[in-house]
Amino acid sequence: MSNQAWLERSRAAVWHPCTQMKRHESLPIVPIASAEGAWLTDFDGKRYLDGVSSWWVNLFGHGHPRIKQAIREQLDSLEHVMLAGFTHRPVVELSERLAALSGLGHAFYGSDGASATEIALKMSFHYWKNSGQPQKTRFVSLENSYHGETVGALAVTDVPIFSSTYADLLKPSLRAPSPDARQAAPGESAADMARRAAQSLGNLLAKRSHEIAAVIVEPLVQGAAGMAMYDPVYLTELRQLCDQYQVHLIADEIAVGFGRTGSFFACQQAGITPDFLCLSKGITGGFLPLSCVLTRDDIYQAFYHDDVARGFLHSHSYTGNALACAAALAVLDIFEDENVLETNRIQAEDFTRRMRPLRQRPDVRHFRQRGMIWAFDVDTSRADFALAYFSAMLKRGCLLRPIGKTVYFMPPYTLRSEEMQWLVNASLEALDEVQAGDARTEGDATALP
Ligand SMILES: *Cc1c(COP(=O)(O)O)cnc(C)c1O
Repeated sequence: MSNQAWLERSRAAVWHPCTQMKRHESLPIVPIASAEGAWLTDFDGKRYLDGVSSWWVNLFGHGHPRIKQAIREQLDSLEHVMLAGFTHRPVVELSERLAALSGLGHAFYGSDGASATEIALKMSFHYWKNSGQPQKTRFVSLENSYHGETVGALAVTDVPIFSSTYADLLKPSLRAPSPDARQAAPGESAADMARRAAQSLGNLLAKRSHEIAAVIVEPLVQGAAGMAMYDPVYLTELRQLCDQYQVHLIADEIAVGFGRTGSFFACQQAGITPDFLCLSKGITGGFLPLSCVLTRDDIYQAFYHDDVARGFLHSHSYTGNALACAAALAVLDIFEDENVLETNRIQAEDFTRRMRPLRQRPDVRHFRQRGMIWAFDVDTSRADFALAYFSAMLKRGCLLRPIGKTVYFMPPYTLRSEEMQWLVNASLEALDEVQAGDARTEGDATALP
């Protein structure tokens, strides 16, 4: 069957995420038949270079042989068993290894990022209840934060296009300023900006910590905000403030964990350990849905009691799925055996050099990089920039989805230099084409996160 046939059937039966479906009257859906490495192939045989690791999950590209093999082997012994009252090898080993990597002794599992956020929020709230401080019920999140889109997660998310429609459903969190380095005043460094944001948070905690359970942040990079990057000193100060005011620190490393920012966990660049660490996305290398919340043993102990209701009763059918855990173990094996962080560091320098012509364009602002994430803001009058750029790149065989007027690269770690060169060349052409095009005033620049 051809692309055309698949896209018509998809449009008729599938409600696609993060999409105004009417858009697909003019913008075709791309049916993918197969994928290998950084390349997707459609049903007409056209190939696309996946420059965003398929929404940031395919860490090692598509079809990585070691992850495939691990899932195959697990399939022969145990695909799944309920995790209430039962356990299995992959979930035990994964929990032990994540504990050793993070310094957080207990792991609780879900299947998606938003659930991990919800689990961390509920655990923090419940911890304070169990610890004789039931008045600590509020959460603090940062401006432009993104922590997922279920109702609880949306309450700590500050992306109006996703949250404002549902405002009446949500119990809003308190908001603290983002440490986004782009917001530095003239003469102010990224570290100064971060300290200024931490000071505002400090003022909020000084006034209201008695009613605050936790602060939740995306360490180093606020992804869905448009890859807003900030100085690690913010996290160091945040850790101190949380200790000083007895408030939990929830690190949402769903996007930035697993080496994306250059260290295995982003928090490591600030030398801190959070109280709760949320992981998902790259955890299985894009093979199976899995998420995890790690926490300290003393927090775990506050739930350990003869009274059933003091336990954390959150349940989820597929929790700790054996196949997903086996895939995650293979991802950890690859990190250990293939020196991924060091290889990425060298590769990232090469990629940054290749991006110089992009960086030097007069319409490119705030070019920034951390680890294996690159982003820049485009000075354009086109309200439909994101859509126009996405289409111009697709035509050139590249998958990049700008967020508003921010273009970003979040490639698989296995991307080769010549593939990055291809992305850069296509980007330069696409920018020329889009900027020369008609400035459509209707349309919504934020419609392609
Ligand atoms: C993607 C993401 C989430 C939500 O994960 P889902 O699996 O899409 O629910 C939460 N937080 C951050 C930082 C993310 O990037």
